[in-house]
Amino acid sequence: MKNLFGLSLAGIEELVTAMGEPKFRAGQIYSWLYAKRTPEIVAMTNLSAPLRAALVEQNDLRWIEVADRQFSEDGTIKSLYRLDDGAAIESVYIPETRRQTICISTQAGCPLKCAFCLTGISGYKRNLKPWEILSQVADGMDQAKKASPRDERPWNVVVMGMGEPLLNYENTMSALRILMDPKGFAITPKKLTLSTVGILPALEKLKLEPVRPNLAISLHAPTSKLRGELMPIEHKYALKDVIEAADSYPSPRGGRVTYEYVLLKDVNDRDEHAHALARLLRGRNGKVNLIPLNAAEPIPFDTPRQAQVARFEGILLDAGVPVSVRKPRGQDVLAACGQLRMKKMSPAC
Ligand code: SAH
Repeated sequence: MKNLFGLSLAGIEELVTAMGEPKFRAGQIYSWLYAKRTPEIVAMTNLSAPLRAALVEQNDLRWIEVADRQFSEDGTIKSLYRLDDGAAIESVYIPETRRQTICISTQAGCPLKCAFCLTGISGYKRNLKPWEILSQVADGMDQAKKASPRDERPWNVVVMGMGEPLLNYENTMSALRILMDPKGFAITPKKLTLSTVGILPALEKLKLEPVRPNLAISLHAPTSKLRGELMPIEHKYALKDVIEAADSYPSPRGGRVTYEYVLLKDVNDRDEHAHALARLLRGRNGKVNLIPLNAAEPIPFDTPRQAQVARFEGILLDAGVPVSVRKPRGQDVLAACGQLRMKKMSPAC
């Protein structure tokens, strides 16, 4: 049966007109699916009873199946989902002081094989469908609402979970359009961030979208040589070209592009790397987010000492490059970046 969840407004219009219903019904269904996030067709009370019955007969309404949840001491919730074909993915809910964030996956596994990332180490299965991507946000919001019904903190969505979103462009964008639609999930583009290594042809397409999220680029090294050692994709889309493409990215409301930089002890965290990074980014419309490595058993790198993280940050600041350091969250449940889908699942999933 066809799942209503994940359909675009145009897709729902097609469905209702084929049933002999007026087009405006599609808008009502769309609102139930994405603004109210009702879990059942029968609860769509502004549709006639016969229409609801016909919809139930011919369609499903479902989110992806939750296989497990882990609750961190700091309030972070890691959710593991089992997809119809047995693939496993994860999302993370992160409560913060002034906002709540959901980190979502766009692929089951990842083909990029960055040397420090567990998702890469555990292999690639497939692209996620729009409904599988959207389900993670719907489920996360639902969880948060159940835990604290009166929590009005604004939502942020970061596309920083498993997978490379720009290798799954169409499905990711279908999901993001519904997330950013004021009549859908109503996440303002400023509060949605897509993180990518910089798949250039897809990045060019993203620039032309009428509504775009914030952009975060996974840089991780100041030189092509070092980046190539850490990230095989450097050999296809080189650092200089990625930065040049990012320079002209039209961020929502004139914001800056974020450059993510995972700090690996003695590999890319020395003063000389910080100076080189500063030279590379000085004067550009970007900011750096330093991410001390979330270490885990099979990752062949260590986390730098706090003092070196502070030195690195200071060098960038002195050079006039805006910089922040990411606080690790949910470490007790392995919810940090690059650590998703471990422990519970065999790497072959
Ligand atoms: N493929 C996309 C999005 C997913 S990864 C990308 O590469 O941007 C999200 C971020 O987490 C990336 O910056 C990635 O490099 C980082 N990351 C991966 N493994 C990590 C680890 N072990 N510790 C800290 N950050 C990690």
